[in-house]
Amino acid sequence: MGSARPDPYRVWLSEIMLQQTTVAMARPYFEKFTYRWPDVEALASAPEDEVMAAWAGLGYYARARNLIACARAVAAAGGFPDNEAELRKLPGVGRYTAAAIASIAFGQRAIVVDANVERVVSRLFAVKQPLPGARERIYELVDSITPPGGSGDFAQAMMDLGATICIPRAPRCGHCPIAQHCAGRAEGDPARYPIKAAKLPRPHKEGMAYWLQHQGNVLLVRRPGKGMLGGMLALPTGLWSEQAEPGQSAPVAVEWTEAGNVDHVFTHFSLSMRLFCAETHVTSGAAGIWWPIDRIADAGLPTLFAKLAERGTAWSIGAALLAA
Ligand code: SF4
Repeated sequence: MGSARPDPYRVWLSEIMLQQTTVAMARPYFEKFTYRWPDVEALASAPEDEVMAAWAGLGYYARARNLIACARAVAAAGGFPDNEAELRKLPGVGRYTAAAIASIAFGQRAIVVDANVERVVSRLFAVKQPLPGARERIYELVDSITPPGGSGDFAQAMMDLGATICIPRAPRCGHCPIAQHCAGRAEGDPARYPIKAAKLPRPHKEGMAYWLQHQGNVLLVRRPGKGMLGGMLALPTGLWSEQAEPGQSAPVAVEWTEAGNVDHVFTHFSLSMRLFCAETHVTSGAAGIWWPIDRIADAGLPTLFAKLAERGTAWSIGAALLAA
């Protein structure tokens, strides 16, 4: 007979994947990962490139790097620690994730606050202070209603309530099991909670990417380990600056053809990336990996570069037709 509690590995993996990602988006990745690497030891011994490629498309690549580091630390220690304080020392495991694993996988009392719980509690207690400043107050309020036993079930029930009934725009108060205790509902407009501080506009940046091909291969580079999309394979780019100059940081000096641009939105800025394409007859001077264009889908490119590669492939087909 297995344990009645969920496997800490699966709880941890799902919580990491769900950071900044919807359930619908994360589910196929979770299934792929648990099929390919069924336990933390398997993930810990997987080559880093394979894990990064399997993560491609899920975004926030620092999570994938932390995922590998965490799996290796846990495997080396012989398993996940069973308490919040030790869990928080693991790479990529913050306050929420540590509390979720401690309560759901190990049955410890822990205060679990995700965006759903934040919304439910803001409405339940009609919290007037705006987020993010209200986080500590909300944390205290969740502490005040978390039972001494069964806090994992309580946490999951609160998250489910937020995901299905106390939903962002139009809370379904008529179906809510705690409606009679809800101060936000009693005031008449619960959807005004949680109150949020005014957002600063998202800055916009521009950049250049280069599709350099040679005899059916395209030049890819591995991005530096730290920074945006760190450790991922990508097309060469210039700096992502607000005023990029054409040709900036091109991998080789050849005649480039502009092939449109791709817009992408990251958490902290939006980006418009212009794509420049060229065929080269010599490969010297171009540092990187020459990847077969007909297998570009297997390169595990992050979404921005997958979109650029689609344009590059279209340019490549057009160039071949013109040359025929
Ligand atoms: S009564 Fe309405 S606003 Fe209050 S917790 Fe329930 S669904 Fe949310």
